[in-house]
Amino acid sequence: MAETIFSKIIRKEIPADIVYESDSVLAFRDIRPQAPVHILIIPKKEIPRVTDIKPEDSVLLGEMFAAANKLAAEMNISEEGFRLVLNCGNNAGQEVFQLHMHLLGGRLLSWPPG
Ligand code: 5GP
Repeated sequence: MAETIFSKIIRKEIPADIVYESDSVLAFRDIRPQAPVHILIIPKKEIPRVTDIKPEDSVLLGEMFAAANKLAAEMNISEEGFRLVLNCGNNAGQEVFQLHMHLLGGRLLSWPPG
């Protein structure tokens, strides 16, 4: 697996505030939260960017969305609303090259994003 900081979190070599884990998906709080709720939902399988997603990853992506819905419900932000963000590549400001879905909520989120 191409080494990223998230690979180490998946292998539990560095600590993270893990809020959800299954065989294929891990979710933990962002170290620099941009909202009262800011969770990163990642596949354990190596997928560096959105552009690396393959048709056979469809079940895995469904599991990521299911995890996002479960966490949003647990954090009591389902009704008021939240944002899911996937940054891909330099122009989007992708910093860590392991696929991750940001779950952001707990405040009013402006649009368009910066
Ligand atoms: P990106 O800009 O790639 O979409 O988002 C990467 C996110 O990972 C950023 O929001 C950043 O704060 C977060 N992040 C980077 N390194 C770590 C880390 O070691 N632990 C945690 N929990 N989050 C991290």
